Amino acid sequence: MTTSIYGLSDPVTHEFRYVGKTVGLVSKRVYRHIREAENGFDGHKARWLRKLLVRNLRPEVTLLEICSDSVWEQAEKLWIATLKRAGNNLTNETHGGRGVSNHLPEARAKISKANLGNRNARGPRMGETKRRLKLKGLAVGLHFRWHVNRSKHNPHCEFCQKGLGF
Ligand SMILES: [Zn+2]
Repeated sequence: MTTSIYGLSDPVTHEFRYVGKTVGLVSKRVYRHIREAENGFDGHKARWLRKLLVRNLRPEVTLLEICSDSVWEQAEKLWIATLKRAGNNLTNETHGGRGVSNHLPEARAKISKANLGNRNARGPRMGETKRRLKLKGLAVGLHFRWHVNRSKHNPHCEFCQKGLGF
């Protein structure tokens, strides 16, 4: 049996905003996310989706990985960490995987504070400019995948506006 790890991104900026997993069809899971948002579910993800829905937009769906069921926790954690490090503002409320041990906002705040301290002492781990470029590269890649390759000119997309690829 396999598990699919998928990402939801903003159709305009192409920024990844959510990483999830499902053993079923990704499209069905995404449909449920949207129904939850429409039904007023709470949480960062549902609030973000509602902001898209009122603009008549839908999230972009990217299949990130298909892995064996036994390793989905590591796979999901890795994708969340990697996309966060690349500068994506994810709405995920945990670091991925199962269990509540990784859902402790207080502990997380402490850790990020400690990391900030380290960063100042040792210099940036990944420079702000480099991180922005990486995010930009990811965004351009998704623009090609979702707009150019499907011949869908999106007037809201900054790369479509620039005529990139069209
Ligand atoms: Zn575009």
